[in-house]
Amino acid sequence: MNQKITIAIDAGHGGKDPGAIGHRGLQEKTVNLAIANELKKLLNNDKMFRTILTRKNDSYISVNKRREFIQKHRIHLLVSIHANSSKKKGVSGASLWIISNNRMNREISNYLKKNQSSNLLCNNLQNIFNANKNDLFLKKTILDLQFNNLKKIELDLSKHLSEELNKQIKTKKIDLNYASLGILSCIHIPSILIETGFITNLVEEKKLSTTAYQKKIARAIYIALKNYFINQWKLNKKKFN
Ligand SMILES: [Zn+2]
Repeated sequence: MNQKITIAIDAGHGGKDPGAIGHRGLQEKTVNLAIANELKKLLNNDKMFRTILTRKNDSYISVNKRREFIQKHRIHLLVSIHANSSKKKGVSGASLWIISNNRMNREISNYLKKNQSSNLLCNNLQNIFNANKNDLFLKKTILDLQFNNLKKIELDLSKHLSEELNKQIKTKKIDLNYASLGILSCIHIPSILIETGFITNLVEEKKLSTTAYQKKIARAIYIALKNYFINQWKLNKKKFN
């Protein structure tokens, strides 16, 4: 592996937007940033990876600005970190989220309508798009195939994530969910959102406030990413040998 894998880490909320707030006053934005920073450290210490962060401090950045930032950089994977909330205090546990089919189909249609060249595709695909500017069917087919591929990556990765989160924080079964979330809606990179726990659950609020627990979550994400990419690398090696 010569080229480093670039992971974009997105700490949800920030600044005037605290995100969910716990009964003891813990703010989601603080937990998200702490986990993002721990994850950054782990990934940067591994020569396989490099990272970029959508926010590095307690600043407000809109979802659109985050998307623009992600689109400007060459990124292999986006990991967005959040904590959940519920009116029911008893609800707890981590969960994983990827983009819904409906939302991605809408994003693909919008992209095709704009009909402008951008750096959202790899060079080979961009060349095909440029050479077939008016062939909407061809372009849509290519983007649909790309979406299927992204989804496959997200599904594989979610298995690794739920396995490692289970090991590290011993939470109950971790579900994979689909949603129409702006941060996950870039058409060109696999994106996954992790709800690390319920900040409105007293036990989880207490855990999420500690550095030890934040480190455990970051470690689980790091190991999951590492295992996923090592597996991919082994599979590719087999294919080409
Ligand atoms: Zn959130």
